[in-house]
Amino acid sequence: MNNKTDVLKNKFTKKIEEIIDYDRPNDPVSLQFLTDIEKESIILKEEISDPIGDDRCSKIKGIIHRYPDRVLLIPKGDCLVTCRFCFRKWKLPHEKTELTYEELEGALDYIRSDPQIWEVVLSGGEPLATSEEKLEYIFKQLNNIPHIGVIRIHTRLPIVAPELVTEKTIKILKKNKPVFIVIHCNNEKEITDDVKKCCDLFVDSGIPLLSQTALLKGVNSEAEDLEALFRKLITIRVKPYYLHHCDLVEGTGHFRTTIKEGQALMRKLRGNVSGICQPTYVLDIPNGYGKVPIGPDYVSFDANELITVMDYAGTQHQYPPQ
Ligand SMILES: *Cc1c(COP(=O)(O)O)cnc(C)c1O
Ligand code: SF4
Repeated sequence: MNNKTDVLKNKFTKKIEEIIDYDRPNDPVSLQFLTDIEKESIILKEEISDPIGDDRCSKIKGIIHRYPDRVLLIPKGDCLVTCRFCFRKWKLPHEKTELTYEELEGALDYIRSDPQIWEVVLSGGEPLATSEEKLEYIFKQLNNIPHIGVIRIHTRLPIVAPELVTEKTIKILKKNKPVFIVIHCNNEKEITDDVKKCCDLFVDSGIPLLSQTALLKGVNSEAEDLEALFRKLITIRVKPYYLHHCDLVEGTGHFRTTIKEGQALMRKLRGNVSGICQPTYVLDIPNGYGKVPIGPDYVSFDANELITVMDYAGTQHQYPPQ
């Protein structure tokens, strides 16, 4: 059983403490990290305990395998913070430890034995908070698997504890196959000078950076918030990758926009903001069916297969039938 009291506790880092504005109502950082017991205790009927179907795709401890060519490897279940909207929120207290070397070998064997697996995505929890020795071991082993083409790391460490990324971390990552890092960042306020320096370390050593953002009411649900965030990410050489529609995690209704609202936000960005600042708006379909782009759509077909395309300003244009 989940220990509800544990889940509802605040947990964040010194770095986050520095940027929380306790005096500002609805501060975008406070909203992400400070517990609101009243709101989080409201469980809507559509909310589910395993919102994206991880359990169904958990093949062996430490592995979530949903798509043919890529797997998640979770070397460490917990994080340095507890984001109040986290899609694994109700599991975190149960996965406090790193995989043991024995469990890790099991997970690596799973990857070794399936030649269809082309990419390993280190996820969590916080994979970059895994002990240095174990991280080095993981990379060394993955490097020896011929069918692995690329290693990806999904992390929030550069935002919540940029000082923990060191030259040694870079050295461990660089000796290997191509590495891509996806940084979880939701509001431009999170991007301080230290964060920029940390991103410079990665990019200057040849590790490309992408970002993922959870669409959250109050944190980034205005077009100006997203515009500022995606522009700032690009200026620190982080390419916006995904904007996630907020998952149906229990007790997160106060964060969730509608899909229509999300699409309207994406429409406002398209054309008005540089193309390299645009992420793909995605939904993780409940019960483990994977992520799909959810628009907005700019093209429509009528019954006679006539094609209409809408430009960014909302004007319709006919496109020749095909
Ligand atoms: C999100 C996710 C991935 C990565 O998906 P991409 O669309 O390639 O970014 C892979 N496996 C699982 C289980 C995931 O949830
Ligand atoms: S960093 Fe990611 S995995 Fe960790 S608590 Fe936040 S959303 Fe969850």
